[in-house]
Amino acid sequence: MKSLSLSGGLLASAITLAISLPLGMSAQANVTDKDILNDQETVDDVVSYGIGPRGQRYSPLKKLNTKTVKKMHPAWAFSFGGEKQRGQESQPLVKDGVMYVTASYSRIYAVDTVTGEELWQYEARLPDGIMPCCDVINRGAALYEDLVIFGTLDAKLVALDSKTGKVRWRKTMGSYKAGYSSTAAPMIVKGMVVTGVSGGEFGVVGKVEARDAKTGKLIWTRPTVEGHMGYLNGEENGITGGAANQTWTGDLWKTGGAATWLGGTYDPDTDLIFMGTGNPSPWNSHLRPGDNLYSSSRLAIDPDTGKIVWHFQTTPHDGWDFDGVNEVIAFDYKEKGKTVKAAATADRNGYFYVLDRTDGKFIRGFPFISNITWAKGLDENGRPIINEASLPGNPADSEDGSKGTTVFSVPSFLGGKNWMPMAYSQKTELFYVPSNEWGMDIWNEPVSYKKGAAYLGSGFTIKPIFDHIGSLKAINPKTGEIEWEFKNDAPLWGGVLATAGNLVFFGNPEGYLLGLNAKTGEVEYKFNTGSGIVGSPITWEQDGEQYLSVVSGWGGAVPLWGGEVAKKIKNLNQGGTVWTFKLPKS
Ligand code: CA
Ligand code: CA
Repeated sequence: MKSLSLSGGLLASAITLAISLPLGMSAQANVTDKDILNDQETVDDVVSYGIGPRGQRYSPLKKLNTKTVKKMHPAWAFSFGGEKQRGQESQPLVKDGVMYVTASYSRIYAVDTVTGEELWQYEARLPDGIMPCCDVINRGAALYEDLVIFGTLDAKLVALDSKTGKVRWRKTMGSYKAGYSSTAAPMIVKGMVVTGVSGGEFGVVGKVEARDAKTGKLIWTRPTVEGHMGYLNGEENGITGGAANQTWTGDLWKTGGAATWLGGTYDPDTDLIFMGTGNPSPWNSHLRPGDNLYSSSRLAIDPDTGKIVWHFQTTPHDGWDFDGVNEVIAFDYKEKGKTVKAAATADRNGYFYVLDRTDGKFIRGFPFISNITWAKGLDENGRPIINEASLPGNPADSEDGSKGTTVFSVPSFLGGKNWMPMAYSQKTELFYVPSNEWGMDIWNEPVSYKKGAAYLGSGFTIKPIFDHIGSLKAINPKTGEIEWEFKNDAPLWGGVLATAGNLVFFGNPEGYLLGLNAKTGEVEYKFNTGSGIVGSPITWEQDGEQYLSVVSGWGGAVPLWGGEVAKKIKNLNQGGTVWTFKLPKS
């Protein structure tokens, strides 16, 4: 018996490290589907990534407003501790006085929302050889019933008991040895936990999966590269796109990328999951003639069957790493007396799209950054009119076949907007888009697929094009007009929150939490958190007081891949702290 318990203990510690503190104070979270659907309206909690299934990141709270916000001050700060810092791209969740917040290196903490005291922490024991492309970040968790669910860098999905932090189930989403990983917050739809995968830089095959949230049992899987079979309850559920090789050449579709690395949103009106897909693999587009469906696209998926209902490809035959993963936000607007069921998305490629969310039809699109070179515009269906002079050349055309022509292209591959989520204010009817103005030198090289190795066939150097790079823009989705712009020296890399208090909150790499006037862009509040902010703020009400939290900790893709942007960010310090603010009690 003794040897058994010893080996059991060793096995457990080899997999996870779970520490739970016997405080006994926290209530067991019990989050229902209804709680998630109503998350935006219920101001006493934040139970989903995006603050509601549509991901609008809008709060009806207004105790914090343009008049009061100047008095806002820190209530507590919680450190993730240890030597493990790096990028903190998380959005916290709050339920019944407990905050659940993920951190770099696949860690998660439960914290008392009033005192900032730790209730438990869980740290995934990651194997050697994980392959996150763009820092060891995590963007958040999902809550369902008494579970907290999050993805880890070795492509596991872990469900913890929300009271103790103990593992209740764990599932594998893909092989980390083949380049799969997970950094996105999972989403709960109709009792299922819905996830994507990362790994588009390693030639994985993107997919969307739905599991029973209570048990982790797989319900359906939908590959996002044309030609791969989907499954529903263990049975074949149709080949994605109907067949292979309609928009791909040769065997390239087998390692076609289209990673679903940012997760998605859900629109209860149309009962559709919206999920974006990343670049086709490899980056070198000359190796894969065709549109390469469903890469660099937005997909609408039926949650009951896992079937693709519509798709909209933002960058067909992508040659610039313009991943199409950015969030699709459902919103309604009135035009000629009629309500339009729309969805908006701001793409890496620099264009902002308004689609009919019932069928994916293009309504309008416009650039939201300056000096775009790769396309001359969008046609009447929203398809880009490619500027061939901005497509990096084919290595096969060079003298020794080793390198194609280098071109300068705007935006850079890190995008006019990257992962950092925008917000939609129901009050101003504007989108608040964290964007970046930059370009890149890019060229192609020969490459062949090797399991577990980078699969790009491209080289690049990112370059600033103005004095500033970051730009928070207030965009009118009906006209395409940019109503105001807040310029930031370093690239913006964190999410945005809009509130009925006429405020827009976000953080910058320089460390500031900023509160801007939603109508004018005027700075109403700033506070330096001591490290760069690349997380997404939330707000909620407790005991009659409005709280606001944001995670601080500089990192992410920019310091790894930013090229000549390094000059702007070289003095920024790492960190790992949840800052929580409120107004003084009076
Ligand atoms: Ca809520
Ligand atoms: Ca990519």
